[in-house]
Amino acid sequence: MKTCRLCSSKNLTDAIDLGAMPIAHRMRKRQDEAEQHYPQRYVLCRDCGLMQIADPIDPEELYREFNFCFSGWKPQPHIAAEFAMISRTSPGKSMLEIGSNDGLFLIEARKSGFGPLLGIEPNRLATEQARSGGLSIVNEMLTPALAADLVAKHGRFDTVVVRQVLEHLLDIPGFFTCVDLLLAPQGILFVDVPDVEQGMRSGDATMLWEEHVNSFTTPVLESALARFGFAVVESERYNFSGGTIAVAARRGAARGTPLDLEKHLAVAGKFAERVEGYQKRLKSVLSRARDAGFGIVLYGAGNRACTLTNSGDLKGLIDYAVDDQLERQGLFMPGTGIPVRPSAELAQESRPFLCLLAVNNEHETKVTAKVRELARAPAHIFTGLSPADIHAELDRVSALLDRENAP
Ligand SMILES: [Zn+2]
Repeated sequence: MKTCRLCSSKNLTDAIDLGAMPIAHRMRKRQDEAEQHYPQRYVLCRDCGLMQIADPIDPEELYREFNFCFSGWKPQPHIAAEFAMISRTSPGKSMLEIGSNDGLFLIEARKSGFGPLLGIEPNRLATEQARSGGLSIVNEMLTPALAADLVAKHGRFDTVVVRQVLEHLLDIPGFFTCVDLLLAPQGILFVDVPDVEQGMRSGDATMLWEEHVNSFTTPVLESALARFGFAVVESERYNFSGGTIAVAARRGAARGTPLDLEKHLAVAGKFAERVEGYQKRLKSVLSRARDAGFGIVLYGAGNRACTLTNSGDLKGLIDYAVDDQLERQGLFMPGTGIPVRPSAELAQESRPFLCLLAVNNEHETKVTAKVRELARAPAHIFTGLSPADIHAELDRVSALLDRENAP
């Protein structure tokens, strides 16, 4: 890529290169199944601070046969806080959600007294699911022509909701052209995106995912909004899915957190080195554990597990993965061919084992309790995913191995 997809600057430098990676949602049916790999390299814009995938996979190719993973699969405990923010800031009750998925958020909006409600969603199955809940959904890609058409039919909206969307967009300015058409003059633009800040600081590569072509932190998001004429009114951060930033913004001059570009570039500039350092440590701890006779099981086989195992080169160090999502059980992880089994399998472990958690932190309590309940052999559980302190987690396992080796 030659120009930044947020600000069109040509001032781009290398951020991190994960090398050739498989598509995380494309599980193998056979362990040795051939699969396509795609370069996953990130560049950093030195003018607006956005870290972005250099060569995004063509969406037609990426989302081909992709008809699962709806929002309902993930509990979203922060939704109530998000509604409270919208209620405090929005001038009225009409709401449009761009990328409404299976309708989870709009159904909650209806319960909270918002309406009229409308969703826009390009995925057909997600649309059908949302419509079966009685929601009104436009099953199309958002374009300025569609936006103008919707405004003619419904008027402008008091709130435009854009959750977990900006990180997927190849054309950010084009998107804001649509938002500008759709939003009432005093209306609230509500945005939530994954926050890569903690991962960047700790050297956790797993918040990188081929589906997320743009990587935001709070100041990068707020300065991006300012670029398109929006001032942040409120902002919050939730420990959901690796970290989520939510902001309510209104047209006007920016008064949110200004981006300290130099500081951000300094943190981002160390990211690749930190990832390498963490991966080296993780690999060395797992090798030591294997030598000491421990089994090694990965808990979770989703996109973050895919990045962890492939970019961290863990293929030969993990016996198998367990995952509670039925659709993944009996299949093999992309890139590594690590078999995926139901968690009940943990009861079969006869030797002490390490259980490396590759689930988002909000699921850890539940998953840890499950491992404790199922395992009959001693299980040592630690997490490989931020925003938890992944280095402190490794320290804990290291100390355990030191004790094992002590005479
Ligand atoms: Zn830029």
